[in-house]
Formats: sequence, structure tokens, C-alpha cells
Amino acid sequence: MFPEPESLKLIFDALAFAADMHRDQRRKNAEQAPYINHPIALAQILVREGRVTDPTVICAALLHDTIEDTVAEPMDIEQRFGPEICAIVLEVTDDKRLPQHERKRLQIEHSPVLSDAAKLVKLADKICNLRDVAESPPVGWTLERRQEYFDWAMAVVDGLRGVSPALELAFDQAYALRPRA
Ligand code: ZN
Repeated sequence: MFPEPESLKLIFDALAFAADMHRDQRRKNAEQAPYINHPIALAQILVREGRVTDPTVICAALLHDTIEDTVAEPMDIEQRFGPEICAIVLEVTDDKRLPQHERKRLQIEHSPVLSDAAKLVKLADKICNLRDVAESPPVGWTLERRQEYFDWAMAVVDGLRGVSPALELAFDQAYALRPRA
């Protein structure tokens, strides 16, 4: 089944908007990959591994870091992509005014009460991040920090289970890459 033209338009509009917003950002790994590779990887995980076909979820994945990490405002997302996609992006956006340890604690606390769409996006995000930390970690991360990241991601994902057995399996396989001494 091929996606509807309207869905394709929405997806490519989201990709173009995210690419524009993240245009000056790089990932923190040694390769300094363009940041947009990360939202693209989430969308790929959802489609290829999760068999997700809902364009709302795919667009939210492409946009998931725009409010948290760029100058994009919720109003921009809502006007361009509608209230449903905007709401999902807001669900997966951390409050940057809080200290990092508090944001991490809140992710664990909030994950069970997210919408199913937000749970899918967050699962894909954690899969992608574990693979990145295992294969191409952020520069300067010690073994202990990488291990802590894996364990925190597991605690978040434990609250997301029940929406996608395929993505949960992909997460558990990614967790098996937890770095060892
Ligand atoms: Zn992300």
C-alpha cells in the first residue's frame, strides 16, 4: 500500500522544516554527523522496524527535537502541521529550564502516561540513541556514563511497553549492546 499524496506532502514538509531548524547543529559524536540524520533515523526505525504507517507519528518523529533544541515554537508546529502533531512533539519535549537530572527523572515518571503515538516516537528515539552511544558515542563519554545512559533508557522504556512488540524487541536488542569494561 502506497501512502496517500497528502501524507507524503506532510512528511516531506516536516522533513524540510526539521532540516531547516537543525541546519546549524551537529551530533556530538566524533563524526559530527548533521543533526537531521537523527530525526531521519527515528522515522526509518518507525517505518522499517515498527511497521508504523500513520503519517502523524512519522511527522512527529521528524519534528521531535525541534521545540526542545531549536528556535521553533509550538505555535510554528501547530500552524504548519496541526494540533495533533504539535501535541505529540510537546509530549516528547523536555522542559529545558529544569536541571538535567530532573529532566531525566521526569522522563521515567512520564513515560507510562504518554499517548500511544508519543510512546512510539520515544521508543524509536531510545533505540536510535542506544545504537549511537554503542557505535559512535558522544565525544568524552566515559564507560560509566555510557552504561548509565543505557540503564536510564531502559527505565524510560519500561514505561513505554505495550504499544509495539516489534519496537520493544528492537530496543531490547539495542540494549544488548550495553558497553562492558
Ligand atoms: Zn531525539
